[in-house]
Amino acid sequence: MKLQRVLQYAQHLLISSVTNGDTVIDATAGNGHDTLLLANLVGDQGQVFAFDVQQQAVEATTNRLNEANLGHRATVILDGHENISKYISTPIAAAIFNLGYLPGSDHAIITKPNTTIQAIESILALLKVEGIVVLVIYHGHEGGKTERDEVINYVSTLPQKYFHVLQYQFLNQKNDPPFVIAIEKVKEK
Ligand code: SAM
Repeated sequence: MKLQRVLQYAQHLLISSVTNGDTVIDATAGNGHDTLLLANLVGDQGQVFAFDVQQQAVEATTNRLNEANLGHRATVILDGHENISKYISTPIAAAIFNLGYLPGSDHAIITKPNTTIQAIESILALLKVEGIVVLVIYHGHEGGKTERDEVINYVSTLPQKYFHVLQYQFLNQKNDPPFVIAIEKVKEK
């Protein structure tokens, strides 16, 4: 038996929780890898909302979707995920965040603790029961450890009556490898 690698586990959570017709969110579109995965999972009746603050990321994500003929399943939005509630009011089955910077781009443009937590809060309010929020936490870059700690503090306070919060992390690897936090809504308030 092989333990699932961190990114594989993040994808496994999405694959297990998203079905045809769902509305889902990629909160950090970047080069669009997760947006494409989600677009494949939601089918023609579903919808992916993907957010990024960089024009370059919006273009890369749009191109990736178009190459797969799946552009019609996604709305790619040039705005911060902290503004999600301006765009979405329907129930959400799943959301993914990849925190940190866009590989191959400006390393100064990173996700930040306050806006990340604001986005998680907005998504949790929209999340369906048994819906899941997946956070892939990169913490090797400058600012990464502060964001990691603030996000962990925040998710650790979520009431267990309403949310299950899990951390999936290899403990003996060098160079600050990413890890996963997953939040499942178990009950509506
Ligand atoms: N999942 C992506 C992929 O498949 O390529 C990688 C995402 S990368 C680690 C993080 C992304 O978050 C960057 O593209 C960055 O521009 C974006 N970002 C930073 N702050 C943001 C914010 N407030 N709202 C939305 N995206 C943000």
